[in-house]
Amino acid sequence: MSKYPRPLDRLITELAKLPGIGQKTAQRLAFHILSMNGESAMDLAKSIVDAKQQLRYCSVCGNLTEEDPCEICSDSTRDRSCVCVVESPRDVAAIERMREYKGLYHVLHGVISPIDGVGPNDINMKQLIVRLRESEEIKEVILATNPNIEGEATAMYAAKLIKPSGIRVSRIAHGVPIGGDLDYTDDVTLSIAMESRREIP
Ligand SMILES: [Zn+2]
Repeated sequence: MSKYPRPLDRLITELAKLPGIGQKTAQRLAFHILSMNGESAMDLAKSIVDAKQQLRYCSVCGNLTEEDPCEICSDSTRDRSCVCVVESPRDVAAIERMREYKGLYHVLHGVISPIDGVGPNDINMKQLIVRLRESEEIKEVILATNPNIEGEATAMYAAKLIKPSGIRVSRIAHGVPIGGDLDYTDDVTLSIAMESRREIP
């Protein structure tokens, strides 16, 4: 028997399913939600329902959107010759925050990871290849998957598929973060930093 009334127990169970939320935190959040006034608690519940109901994935790039195609894909001022390939919609948001990149995106919704049983067919890879094949405008693809083992493997895999088409393929440069310490930089980062070194003019 649970020590809490059933609705509270259910709230704790649901919250504990969220990433990074353990049982203790779930209890704390549940009691906090119960202490909120009715309106605030309803706003929270409604925002979850609305986000689930009103958002979908763009049929062109895979980004999260209310309208299909998304705002970026339908923006005529953006550079349609360049597509930046990322792992998740969060990466699109991160790159957009820099306000420097003016091209389009392609969201893979994951990375190739044999250990986790994720192959190329489990992510938006095929859609990328089809999109590139069908487009006459795209001249460059920037592979911006994360600089870890899975991200690198996914970028290599994509590059191999894209290169024969004649489209320029580039990989964002990763390296030792500014202010970082070589000593504290992990091996993968460091080896990529070494590999992607460029000559100083
Ligand atoms: Zn889109």
